[in-house]
Parts: sequence; C-alpha cells; structure tokens
Amino acid sequence: MPELPEVEHVKRGIKPFATGQKIESVIFSEKVKEGKASQRETIIKGMALDTFQKFTEQYVIKEIERRSKYIVFHLEKGEEERILISHLGMAGGFFVVDKIEDISVPNYRKHWHVIFKLDNDKLLVYSDIRRFGEIRNVPDFEAYPSFLEIAPEPFEEEAKGHYIAWFDKKTYQNKPIKQMILDHRVISGCGNIYACEALFRAGIHPARLSKSLNNQERDILFYYVRDVLESGIKYGGTSISDYRHADGSTGTMQQHLNVYKQKVCKVCGNDIETQVIATRNSHYCPTCQK
Ligand SMILES: [Zn+2]
Repeated sequence: MPELPEVEHVKRGIKPFATGQKIESVIFSEKVKEGKASQRETIIKGMALDTFQKFTEQYVIKEIERRSKYIVFHLEKGEEERILISHLGMAGGFFVVDKIEDISVPNYRKHWHVIFKLDNDKLLVYSDIRRFGEIRNVPDFEAYPSFLEIAPEPFEEEAKGHYIAWFDKKTYQNKPIKQMILDHRVISGCGNIYACEALFRAGIHPARLSKSLNNQERDILFYYVRDVLESGIKYGGTSISDYRHADGSTGTMQQHLNVYKQKVCKVCGNDIETQVIATRNSHYCPTCQK
C-alpha cells in the first residue's frame, strides 16, 4: 500500500508536468462507468461522472500537493475553485505520459481508469490495479470533513505537540501504541510499514498500552516516526506489493527495513515475531522492543 513516502514520490513525478496546465477533458474507463451505473462508486466518489467532468474540464491545475497519504490538486477556472482529493488505495498511481502505451509497467498500463487530457498534449493518468483508490472533486476541504481531521504534516513544527496531546485524551490510553500512531488524526501519513519500523527504532513493543509510555519514550517514538518517513522518502519508498513510481521505477526502502516482513532481527539475531494489533500485522523483535 502506498504510504507517505510513496505518495510523496508520486507527487514529485507528476508535479513538474501537470502544474499550470489546463485540463481539456476527462475520460473514464469502462470499469469506472460500470461501477457508477451499478452504484459501486468505482474510484470517482460522491459525484456523477458528468458532474465530475463539469467541475474538472477547462480548469487549470494551479497546485499539486501531498497531504498525509492523499494527493491534492487545486483547480481554478476564472473565479471558480475546485479541489481534487485522491487516495491511491492499495495500488493506485498517477502518471504523466504522451500516450497510455508509454506507461512502463504493464499492469498500470492495462488498468488505467481516469485520463485527464492536458493542454500541453500530455495525459495525466490515474491507474489502479485493485480499484480501491478514490478521487473526489470538492469545492473546498470543508466539503470532505474527514480530511480536516488529519494531523499536521509530520515534518511541520506543530506535529509533535499535536501528537503528544493525544496521550491526554481517553481515545487511546488503554489501547496499543501501535494503533494510536496509525491513526492519521494523531500522526499524519504513518502507515503500517513505517509504524512497525519506528517502534523498532524506538525500542518500544507495539502492543504496549499508550498510557504506559513515559515522556521520554513518547518523544523518542515521534523522533523515529519522522526518521523512518525521511528514510522512506530518501530511498524512494518501498516496492512492496505492486507499487511503482510515476516513472515506473521502484523504491529501495525495503532494503532498509528492520522488522516489517523480516525474518531475523539485524541487531540481536532473534526471530522477528508477528502479532495482529487492531487488524494490522505488527512485526517486532521481542528482545529489542520492550
Ligand atoms: Zn532484536
């Protein structure tokens, strides 16, 4: 599943080619049309396809940003503004190409679902092998309230204080710390891989109750969440599952993982164990993490 570092690379891959371009038309795949016709809302959420076209076509892409694990396109047509909010689901990605055949990974070439034709003659393509991703077209962020609940970006100044304040709320006091840091209202963009790795680097067992962490452990954990996300961005993310960058290349972060889907601890040599916490597999070293 694309996490923050992977989504950051998708954004970097498309931003230089799509920013400032007018969207001339939007084309949907047969799967998207069939999904809409049978109320499944395939990829395009909360809006009929012709309405989506009406609020996207002839708009200029003013800005593309990443927020948590979402890619956000700010659109403008004269005085009118719209926002496209896209979550890549399990295996989605955006590409900018001259023609569909130029998408280098066969699966992404085959499973394109939305094409935005740009006025520089390029195609901004949303491909999704498993179709769990989504694109919403909203007038402002208030129209998609769950988006407003997301914590500050982890590299922003206020992110740490925001996270620390959650220890005083009842929500997670008697729940595993792993579950707490996976909530994007607590820390933005820390998915399962990076949560497992941050807990390892911090030496904290994922099943520990949040309230059992002392102040130093709370601080250290946040430090390592930032640290692993930075490493993830630096190494281009992971290429676990089907994920590919916009240019078809893969990340190498998996070579720097200590516990996620690993067999043996690189520090102490003991076996890595797996435990399901809040429906997600947690991988940890029982010796190094207390
Ligand atoms: Zn170990």
